[in-house]
Amino acid sequence: MKDQTAVVTGGSRGIGRAVCLKLASLGANLVINYAGNTEKAEETKALCEAFGVQVVLVAGSVADPAVCETIINTAVKTFGKVDILVNNAGITRDNLMMRMSEEDFDQVIAVNLKGAWNCMKQVSRLMMKQRSGRIINLSSVVGLTGNAGQVNYAASKAGVIGMTKSLAKELGSRGVTVNAIAPGFIDTDMTEVLGEDMKETIQKTIPLGRFGKPEDIANAVAFLAGKDAGYITGQVLQVDGGMVM
Ligand code: NAP
Repeated sequence: MKDQTAVVTGGSRGIGRAVCLKLASLGANLVINYAGNTEKAEETKALCEAFGVQVVLVAGSVADPAVCETIINTAVKTFGKVDILVNNAGITRDNLMMRMSEEDFDQVIAVNLKGAWNCMKQVSRLMMKQRSGRIINLSSVVGLTGNAGQVNYAASKAGVIGMTKSLAKELGSRGVTVNAIAPGFIDTDMTEVLGEDMKETIQKTIPLGRFGKPEDIANAVAFLAGKDAGYITGQVLQVDGGMVM
């Protein structure tokens, strides 16, 4: 990936950080977006720069179209192009339907679904003109199966799959691939909030017998972003230890 430009949203922590490190280790220059945790974002930047690549940080919510415009403009101004877009930024606001507020529904859709749309909107014309590009969207197995307490999150992640397949059909003739990754249970801050009992119950449903690591997802992103995946588009790659089949 030497001399390629990758944009990763939500790259300060968790899966996003692992994705940044993997792409940096393969030689890609990076524009890394994050919501507000500047300390963690600076850490990710320094870790990536240790691989000898250039890194620019852009703070702000992907739910804001102006932020996504800035992210992509920054990439173009700094590196001249965008080869890879990884829509990773995501949040949860879990609650049963009876207790879920409209605000919790709207926020999750705004970040997870509209946020990915905002960035795809910004890169689509660019990648069409380049006649190349890789877009990788972070969905979730919950988008395939549903999950009690996650009506908002499951809707956003199922929506991401619909957008991925639709855009894959629109951009395929221009050499741009669009794929989704559906992680299972990955050890990050997002899943840290679950109680030990819940974690034990979930672990029993995973044939490989362990939770995933952020690096497990980063490896899949790197594959879909790399040249060996050039004939794969519109797909949902589950990386879940066999949790959902
Ligand atoms: P995480 O540890 O909670 O990290 C979230 C990242 O997203 C942080 O970098 C955060 O930035 C950023 N972020 C949050 N809201 C944002 C916004 N509005 N605009 C821009 N950036 C924002 O999450 P994770 O577990 O790594 O999850 C990454 C992705 O994988 C998400 O899309 C998630 O839904 C998906 N996923 C995760 C799992 C899992 O088990 N962990 C399973 C399936 C799918 P700050 O540091 O600045 O807050």
